[in-house]
Amino acid sequence: MPDDVYDLTIVGAGPTGLFAAFYAGLRQMKTKVIDALEQPGGQVAVLYPEKYIFDVPGYSKILAKDLVKCLVEQGFQYNPTVVLGERVTSMHRINGTIELGTDKGTRHVTKAVLVAAGVGAFSPNRLEAKGAADYEGKGVYYFVKDKGTFKGKNLLIVGGGDSAVDWALNIKDIAKKITLVHRRDVFRAHEGSVAELMKSSVDVKLFFEVKSVSGDGSNVTQAVIYDNRSQAETTLDVDAILVNIGFRADLGPIKDWGLQIDGREIRANGKMETSIPGVFVAGDIAGPQDGVKLNLIATGYAQAAMAVNVAKAFVDPNSKIFPGHSSEMKK
Ligand SMILES: Cc1cc2nc3c(=O)[nH]c(=O)nc-3n(C[C@H](O)[C@H](O)[C@H](O)COP(=O)(O)OP(=O)(O)OC[C@H]3O[C@@H](n4cnc5c(N)ncnc54)[C@H](O)[C@@H]3O)c2cc1C
Repeated sequence: MPDDVYDLTIVGAGPTGLFAAFYAGLRQMKTKVIDALEQPGGQVAVLYPEKYIFDVPGYSKILAKDLVKCLVEQGFQYNPTVVLGERVTSMHRINGTIELGTDKGTRHVTKAVLVAAGVGAFSPNRLEAKGAADYEGKGVYYFVKDKGTFKGKNLLIVGGGDSAVDWALNIKDIAKKITLVHRRDVFRAHEGSVAELMKSSVDVKLFFEVKSVSGDGSNVTQAVIYDNRSQAETTLDVDAILVNIGFRADLGPIKDWGLQIDGREIRANGKMETSIPGVFVAGDIAGPQDGVKLNLIATGYAQAAMAVNVAKAFVDPNSKIFPGHSSEMKK
């Protein structure tokens, strides 16, 4: 087999995919994890990072974003190949391996696949203002890869959720100036963070939206914002715009992979095997036969352990499904 063939490729880096990555590492599988988002953590990271979770085994309560940190630390400890910002669009069986194609035109070849795609691939809601699409990646951002990007900049942040508020607070001391526009006067963010924002140096403009974005061709230089009550417009000089107006999830092409699908679930047996040999499923997207559908993090963990151990025996028929306990395996 060529070097670039992985034992297991996990589609989705939500809690299920991250725990599966850990388990695959423990089982010494050559592992790859692919997620459409630029950050791991799935729903937990993008939909409710500031909420407490009370039903994760081992924690009486844990802040969602802290759980993601722990999952990443545990999940990536065996150094799987991690591919972020790529959405898997196709899956084909070719000569005993499985080939996954992505929206970035890349191919990933693997002996087994674990689909841990949750409620579908997340993508950020795009700013619909005139000119915003032309400046995406040229000053208009939907994710912060490195907050140093905004050092000394006139930054406009768009949004009123946890991400917008947290980033404003996080970047305010390195940016030259931050203006935050939100279309309402109620935030969907942690109230302590909102109180801190309102007292900070960030210029918060409530009931404001972005009308248009313009620039010099290579970078954004201006944004026209308007008061959605009076329609009065204001022009801001900006070097960067960070848009945090939520995410949408879409199962999309998974439906065309030849798997047995029922509504939003991929059918599986009790071993988390799908209708295609070598393709396993776990987490919110899994519909195990005769199972009760419980879309919980704990359910995904258990299904991930099951799927990975069965996948290990699929890839290497000499290995056992149950390897023993981690306390005995790990030094
Ligand atoms: C507001 C809210 C509160 C919740 N509170 C709790 C709670 O208190 N306790 C609890 O146990 N559960 C809770 N849940 C449910 C819990 O978050 C989910 O059960 C859990 O996130 C499922 O994990 P997952 O990894 O299976 O899927 P997801 O978290 O949905 O992750 C799937 C990942 O796969 C990626 N993906 C999908 N398709 C593709 C593709 N084609 N290519 C590449 N990547 C892809 C997505 O981008 C995503 O990152 C809550 C959910 C919500 C919305």
